[in-house]
Amino acid sequence: MSNYVLVLDTNKKPLTPCKPSMARSLLKAGKAAVYHRYPFTIILPKKVMDTPTSCQLKIDPGSKTTGLALLLNDSVIWAGELTHRGQQIKDTLLNRRQLRRGRRNRKTRYRQARFLNRKRPDGWLAPSLEHRVQTTMTWVKRLTRFCPVDSVYQELVRFDTQKLQNPEVSGAEYQQGELYGYEVREYLLEKWGRACVYCGAENTPLEVEHIAPKSKGGSDRVSNLTLACHACNQAKSNQDIQDFLSGNPDLVKRILNQAKAPLKDAAAVNSTRWKLYNELKTTGLQIHTGSGGLTKYNLVGLIFLKPTGLMPPVWERQSP
Ligand SMILES: [Zn+2]
Repeated sequence: MSNYVLVLDTNKKPLTPCKPSMARSLLKAGKAAVYHRYPFTIILPKKVMDTPTSCQLKIDPGSKTTGLALLLNDSVIWAGELTHRGQQIKDTLLNRRQLRRGRRNRKTRYRQARFLNRKRPDGWLAPSLEHRVQTTMTWVKRLTRFCPVDSVYQELVRFDTQKLQNPEVSGAEYQQGELYGYEVREYLLEKWGRACVYCGAENTPLEVEHIAPKSKGGSDRVSNLTLACHACNQAKSNQDIQDFLSGNPDLVKRILNQAKAPLKDAAAVNSTRWKLYNELKTTGLQIHTGSGGLTKYNLVGLIFLKPTGLMPPVWERQSP
């Protein structure tokens, strides 16, 4: 699918987006001019009175990237992915901190150490997270300026980290519910980066894999689970990971470390999503949100597919 072209009339009123071929012929015939490159937008030299067909904007905020898609009559006509610079921002701030610390320690006049004199406003997010919200909002504003968007869909909470990290606290009911299975799979996809942990294969259905095999006493806890492609899952069977990857001790070490580390991103993703939601409310657009409970019916059975193109397939198949 190639992205549709966004269209404005001479008063910069957003019109129904058109196919690239249509835009090409308009441009060739001199009936339109290029207005913006990203997203590609053309402007017509005349006033258009017709009411455009409204579009919907879907947002899928993630830890490393945020997916954006425009829908027209329930099909995706434009999709894009924002890559976040969280780590870069963190590194830059760390650099600055070290520089300042060095400066304080130099032989200069005495400076009293700072103590409890920092205040953070309500709703403060770390700069590396705040920028996710801000860059996403920039794109939301840009897209709503160029396209007749009437509502925004955002998935608010992807998984309940509290319950995933401490399955004991929530009791057996939660663990056995449908949501548990869904949330665990979604959590694993996020944690292991949507690729087979053994061979790195992407774009393939992934299966939940026990690192320490169940037959040898491996548990069902999230820290013992990972994702593997069908071939690797079959090949590993009930071997220990050390035996299966005996030629690659580095990979074994990496997998075991990553398995133990809880997904730091998960909590961050959730807090970023809430902040984004609050920001979206200020745009005056109609906001629809989904939570794990709401989306599970749309998602079950689909989440093992790698998002094709730029958005997860769920957006394309959401209507029941
Ligand atoms: Zn594999």
